[in-house]
Amino acid sequence: AAKSAGKNGVRVFSPEMEDGVNTRHQVQTRLRQALRGGEITLCFQPKVCAATRKPIGCEALARWRTPEGKLIPPSEFVPIAEQTGLIVPFGELVFRTAAEQARDWAACGREPSVAVNVSPHQLRHPGFVSSLQDVLAETSARAEWFELEITECAMMEDVDHAVEVIDSLAALGFNVAVDDFGTGYSSLSYLKHFRLHTLKIDLTFIRDVTTDWQSQAVVRSVVSLGAGLGLNVVAEGVETAEQAELLSEIGCTTLQGYYFGKPMTADDYVDWLDAQARTSV
Ligand code: C2E
Ligand code: MG
Ligand code: MG
Ligand code: MG
Repeated sequence: AAKSAGKNGVRVFSPEMEDGVNTRHQVQTRLRQALRGGEITLCFQPKVCAATRKPIGCEALARWRTPEGKLIPPSEFVPIAEQTGLIVPFGELVFRTAAEQARDWAACGREPSVAVNVSPHQLRHPGFVSSLQDVLAETSARAEWFELEITECAMMEDVDHAVEVIDSLAALGFNVAVDDFGTGYSSLSYLKHFRLHTLKIDLTFIRDVTTDWQSQAVVRSVVSLGAGLGLNVVAEGVETAEQAELLSEIGCTTLQGYYFGKPMTADDYVDWLDAQARTSV
């Protein structure tokens, strides 16, 4: 089972392996090597303004490329990293890589806007905010270039703590987004306590927004909630022109999905930006 084919090639870990102490230990060891050995890279997926369809930034998504050339998607290692605490050094590496990339884009005159995912464990970790500050200082990146995506579940786990951390992040200049919005046991009354910039509607609602009136009702509610609270509302997982059109009409401010661009290497992302600039004139 450990070698059954996964979506993006050969699986190195099967879900069953997570149960065994030894195998979890092996995965931990491999992931630790991967962190040190430069096997973790970032892909960048474009986001566009719903009204103009112009690029407005990207989301950084982690990929693990093993020395054998296998590409392991985050669904196969982020949960293990989360359980073992390796997500803390992993998250730091991701932010450092994103910060270096953003700084390089800024140096070429491209105003960076990069969303970076933050896991529940990272949010709970006492050194989280100061580690971000350290990376900013070391890379000369600016907090304003980043939007930190925190899942609704992570925020609701310990609301008081999350409010405190998000306040500190906002004070430093970071934007904060609620990721996968609509999937958690969302207590809407808590939202006003968080210093947020963005709600990101989970892609499960986007997938059938044109065909399922219930998903569409959820999307409309989130859009009106976001508008009422003065937040950007991002639709993620947009795959078709019909979805894009409907979501713009409903009032999403930002669109992201394969229809506009898949997660790509930094070089491909810059090429994509240039191609967009050429076609819009
Ligand atoms: P997410 O943050 O909600 O990211 C959105 C996921 O949807 C990404 O999957 C993206 O590639 C995928 N996606 C984007 N557009 C479409 C589309 O049009 N159709 C479909 N079917 N999928 C689309 P990915 O890259 O596999 O990442 C999965 C999850 O892994 C992320 O969900 C996030 O929770 C986690 N993740 C990825 N990178 C990191 C990271 O650096 N740190 C942490 N903590 N988590 C990460
Ligand atoms: Mg995200
Ligand atoms: Mg999401
Ligand atoms: Mg997700």
